[in-house]
This record gives sequence, structure tokens and C-alpha cells, in this order.
Amino acid sequence: LWHDCATRLQNELPAQQFSTWIRPLQVDFERNTLFLYAPNTYVMDWVKDKYLKQIITFLRATAGDEAPNVELRVGGARKAPVPAASPVINGSSEPEISKEPKPANQPTARPQPNTADRPISLQHSNLQPTYKFDNFVEGRSNQLARAAALQVAENPGKAYNPLFIYGGTGLGKTHLLHSIGNGILANKPDAKVFYLRAERFVQDMVYAMKHNKIDSFKESYRSVDALLIDDVQFFAKKDHFQDEFFHTFNWLLEGNQQVILTSDVYPKEIEGVDERLKSRFGWGLTVAIEPPELPTRVAILERKAEERKIKLPHEVAFFIAKRLRSNVRELEGALNRVIANVTLTGRDITIDFVKEALRDLIAAQERLVTIDNIQRTVAEYYHIKVSDLTSKRRTRSVARPRQVAMALAKELTSHSLPEIGDAFGGRDHTTVLHACRKVKELIESDHEIQEDYRNLNRTLSV
Ligand code: ADP
Ligand code: MG
Repeated sequence: LWHDCATRLQNELPAQQFSTWIRPLQVDFERNTLFLYAPNTYVMDWVKDKYLKQIITFLRATAGDEAPNVELRVGGARKAPVPAASPVINGSSEPEISKEPKPANQPTARPQPNTADRPISLQHSNLQPTYKFDNFVEGRSNQLARAAALQVAENPGKAYNPLFIYGGTGLGKTHLLHSIGNGILANKPDAKVFYLRAERFVQDMVYAMKHNKIDSFKESYRSVDALLIDDVQFFAKKDHFQDEFFHTFNWLLEGNQQVILTSDVYPKEIEGVDERLKSRFGWGLTVAIEPPELPTRVAILERKAEERKIKLPHEVAFFIAKRLRSNVRELEGALNRVIANVTLTGRDITIDFVKEALRDLIAAQERLVTIDNIQRTVAEYYHIKVSDLTSKRRTRSVARPRQVAMALAKELTSHSLPEIGDAFGGRDHTTVLHACRKVKELIESDHEIQEDYRNLNRTLSV
């Protein structure tokens, strides 16, 4: 039956849509229900929004009255028992059909009366099990957000309520949000935890209003232990939703039910969101996720490579991380591309290989090699401050990196010795010359310096 339906979809949908959304679905059949398993929430929601109606129509066309109900889930086609709180989505958006009595031999398939009206997004936790604290790499840029998230996961409703996480796109907000949800469930498996994107809340509400179900809509939202709403900047300019959300939100906070929100802007700066709602957002704790700094980017790449069982040499991770600095999603994309190329060509992952594979990405980010850039890179590499490089301090831990940086500046830029001296805290040109000679000498005698210099040089010069 599913096969027929899928074939029809394949004929009717553009190939790309079919292979993106329909092909990944796994199928399971139990009693009178066809379970479609999506690889993640995103696919599930998308299929639900765009194709569910069509799927149901096709099933009806083939099977008529025998057509099964359809339920979408996240995960593989495992045979988990249907939880009571997770009723079947009846195969229609027409409410009267859901009141149709079920055949007498299938009494258990009947939805429970008080959950039948539950909004679609509250029928599952919608949590993505792969987003966990375990695989969230900690760094200075996300330390605070992660710590707050952990506390909320351990003491939902008690630590900070609401917790508001904000930060630019691709920095890990969604990952942290799911981690909290999964964390709460790990401590208390029967907790009612729901993740949804803000648009989803709005859509559910439109649906509820259209079908005169606004009361049960409110009830459903208000019965949760933790409500995780992603990307609340989407509430902007949706006035009557904000009103409803405001009430639900207050209700939850008063009942010590945990609310966690994310946004790509600071709550006060979300345009078109009601002032009292914004002020309420700030009642608990507001934390930022910043773009990851170099060591974190390196650690993330190494971690993701390890998860994929790919050997990514440290200097290559450093090379990529050094160039792609804006966000984690971009880093992941680059790593995926490298891995795909390695798989196709069977070559080793070297800096040259990566340069080739990521040429366009790197070119797009390429900046002229400046002394500034060199100082920052050297400081990061040696875990010291840029101000150490320009200071008068002469301790070895600072003096050596400073000499290396000067030598790199001489080699990679067209600045004169006096100019370089100036940029390093007003040093004399003879000091720069001495540094260049010293480094050259060390490269020949000291393996470690040789390695450092080579890595830095490669990193700086695309
Ligand atoms: P956002 O919601 O802020 O736009 P996401 O949470 O979707 O960002 O993160 C984008 C990708 O980067 C995801 O695949 C996520 O797993 C990954 N990611 C982000 N930050 C980290 C981190 N600190 N450690 C590991 N992976 C991360
Ligand atoms: Mg997100």
C-alpha cells in the first residue's frame, strides 16, 4: 500500500522534493496505522505540513475505507508501543471524521478523548535524541549558556525560568535546547517535555482557532512540564498570537513549569514583539552564545570527525578552523565536504587536499594577511594574548612567540622591518631583524619550533 502511495508521490513531486522528504521515510504498519518514521523532527514537520494530506488522499484512493490512519514519528522503524498520550493523527484534517467510530475489533486504536484535540506539535516531544550535552563541545563562547542549560535540565522549573538563549545563526542554540529537553527526560522519563519552533506554535493556534478548539489548545499547552520554543523572533508582528502566548507563558511560569526560549537576537531587540512579552522574556536568565573562538572551532571539528570515524590531522583541523570563523554550521558543512571528497578520491586528508576541496569557501573568506591577523593567530596558537606580543615582557613564553610572529610578518607581508617593529609595540628594526634570524636558526635546530612555524605559516597563507 505504501509502495503504491510512494510511487504516486514520486510521479507527482519534483524529483528533488521526493528524494529529500519522502524517500528517507521508513515505514511500519501496526493495526490500522501506518507509521512513517522521519530521520529528524525537521523532516517530520515538513512532511506533515506539505505532504500529509496528499499521502492520505493517495492511501484513500487505493484502499478506500480500509485506508489506515497515518502517524508521523521521528526515528527508525522500531516497534515502540504507542504511548497513551500520543494519539493517532486521524487520516484527515476534517474534524467530523475523527469522531467516526472505529470498527469494534480495534478498540485500542481509538484516541483518548482529552488528547484527541491536542495540537499536532504536542503529540510528541519532538526532541532530537542526537542533540545532547555529551556532544556539545564546550568553549569560552558557549560556556555560560551551556552551564545555565545544564542547571535547567537538572532542576526544571526551579533554576531559571524562563531561560532565554540568544545568539547568531549556526552557533548551537537548537542543539542546546534539545540537550535540555533530553536531559530533563533522562532524569524524569515521564516528564512532559515539548520542543517546537515558534512558527509551529503559531500554526497550531491558527488551526485551533479555525476549528473552534482554542480552549483545548490552551489546556494542552498548559499541561506541560517543560516547553521549549525555538526561534521566538518568529513571533514578531503576530499580534494576537503574542497575546495568547503571553497568557500561556505566564500560566506556565506561575506553575513553575519550565519555559526555555531561543532567538537569534537579544530579547529586547526583537522587533515587532510586544513590550510586556519582551520584558517577561527577561524574568529568568538571558544568556548569549557567541561565535566560537579558534580553539573551540578546532575542538568541534575534531569531535565531529571523530564521531564520523575520520582521522583529521590536528594541523588540518587548525587550518580549516582558522579560515572558517563565522559559525559552527559552516564548519560542519566544510567538514562534510572534506569527508565526501576523501571518500570519493581515497586520498589522505592533508592541508593541500583541504585547500583544494574547500577552495571556494576559503576564497570567500580570504582576507589579506595583515600583521594584525598574524598577531592574533600566533597569540591564539600559543594561548597568549595579543597584548603580550606587543608588550615589553621578555619571559620566554612570550618572547619566543613574539619572535615567531615577527618572522611571519616579514615573510608573509610586504611591510618593512621598521613598520613591523612599530606594530610590535614600537620595537627597533634591529630587534625585528634579530628575531627573523633567530627563528630561522631555530627552525633548523628545534623540531618543535619548526613544526609551529610551519603550521602557522600554512594557516596564514592560503
Ligand atoms: P542554531 O540553532 O544556533 O542556529 P544549531 O544548534 O542548529 O544552531 O547548530 C548548528 C550545527 O552546529 C548543529 O549541527 C550543531 O550540532 C552544531 N553545533 C553548534 N554548536 C556546537 C557545539 N558547541 N558542539 C558541537 N556541535 C555544535
Ligand atoms: Mg536553531
